[in-house]
Amino acid sequence: MWSFATDPDFQAEIDWIDTFTREKIEPLEYVLGSPWDIHDPEFVRLVRPLQAEVKARGLWGCHLGPELGGKGYGQVKLALMNEQFGRARFGPIVFGAQAPDTGNSEILAHYGTPEQKKQFLEPLLANEIVSCFSITEPHGGADPLGFKTTAVQEGNGWVINGEKWFASNARYAAFYIIMAVTDPDATPYRRMSMFIVPADTPGIDIVRNYGVHGEPGDTHGHVRWTNVRVPPENMLGGRGDAFIVAQVRLSGGRMHHAMRTLALATRAFEMMCERVASRVTRGETLANKQMVQEKIADSWIELRQFRLLILETAWLADQNKDWKAVRKNVAAVKAIMPKILHDISSRALHLHGSLGLSDDMPFVEWLVNSFHVGLADGPTEVHKVTVAKEILKTVKPAGGVFPSYGHAARRAQARRLYS
Ligand SMILES: Cc1cc2nc3c(=O)[nH]c(=O)nc-3n(C[C@H](O)[C@H](O)[C@H](O)COP(=O)(O)OP(=O)(O)OC[C@H]3O[C@@H](n4cnc5c(N)ncnc54)[C@H](O)[C@@H]3O)c2cc1C
Repeated sequence: MWSFATDPDFQAEIDWIDTFTREKIEPLEYVLGSPWDIHDPEFVRLVRPLQAEVKARGLWGCHLGPELGGKGYGQVKLALMNEQFGRARFGPIVFGAQAPDTGNSEILAHYGTPEQKKQFLEPLLANEIVSCFSITEPHGGADPLGFKTTAVQEGNGWVINGEKWFASNARYAAFYIIMAVTDPDATPYRRMSMFIVPADTPGIDIVRNYGVHGEPGDTHGHVRWTNVRVPPENMLGGRGDAFIVAQVRLSGGRMHHAMRTLALATRAFEMMCERVASRVTRGETLANKQMVQEKIADSWIELRQFRLLILETAWLADQNKDWKAVRKNVAAVKAIMPKILHDISSRALHLHGSLGLSDDMPFVEWLVNSFHVGLADGPTEVHKVTVAKEILKTVKPAGGVFPSYGHAARRAQARRLYS
């Protein structure tokens, strides 16, 4: 059965999120800094009341299952929600759905001890604290098999040494989830384990916080770990299970990034449309020029294609209840996402002329953001390889020099069938 309709009751919620985001959340990005700077008094004054409205409406933390106080909506409904609030920088945090806290909460829900859930998961879900997910290292992030940070068993606990890179929100985080080599001689995917480490543990030093063009504050930490001691229960999952533990968060995280990227690209598209309908040149609006119309049409078509790919993947994830079954689809969503944001932001920038390039417009920031979504959670090339490998793994070779579908061979087959 096929249906592209949204349940009317849920559509009413989506419409509310749309208006609330445009009217109340979008303005925050013009008066506040980083959404993860949750102890900034201005954040407390402006964001906390909006979060309370979301909670009162029953739309807080919807990525969570009912056992964690969430709605258990599933990926399709999450996609539709993110498509609205993802257009605003503060949208995710107002709805209790910001990365990397969403993924980290899923890891803790699966692998945390009851004490860790009390100490870290509960305040994380309430946005009383924020967290950091730290796997990338300075010498290279795209190849996780090359990570060097070690955790060595000493006495009853573990001692972590190494350097981590681009650890987003490290400076605001109350705890880290970190990947370290515990079994250097094991097979490649069994060498590392995952740990939870409170941020105030001695030996964790932020060497420097890097900024990204267009983002407020310098929020991406280069972090040095020197003899950082944690007790045995801080290992999340079993020894050598880091890749299994990471999978709990990665697919959902990539999908939610894609939904928010769709929202941002849609925002750029709306701006582009208003501009071409307003700007007059050579006696007519830009909207009347065919080459401008082509840009509008291409952008709308690309947005709809991307939206359908996301929603189909979300629907498949809901049906299968297992991210592994939709690995190819999630990788495809991840791979196309930077191109969609890049191309639509570029066209919006270009159609605004010099104004588009100026710092009064957000297009340069969104262009940079398109590179962000092409790198974070792994570069595009790696995800394209996954798509191709998943497709090709079931394809049978022709079994001879010539393709199985040559006209002569097919004709002979057809004659045998219908002789
Ligand atoms: C804004 C932002 C936030 C981030 N936040 C976090 C975070 O919170 N925690 C965290 O752990 N990491 C984070 N990262 C790091 C991110 O995961 C890495 O940037 C990413 O994995 C790529 O690693 P790298 O930057 O070291 O690039 P490299 O590994 O040096 O790769 C550079 C380029 O080489 C090419 N390349 C690499 N591998 C292949 C391949 N197999 N085939 C073809 N080409 C390839 C690609 O073009 C790639 O972009 C963040 C990154 C950004 C930009």
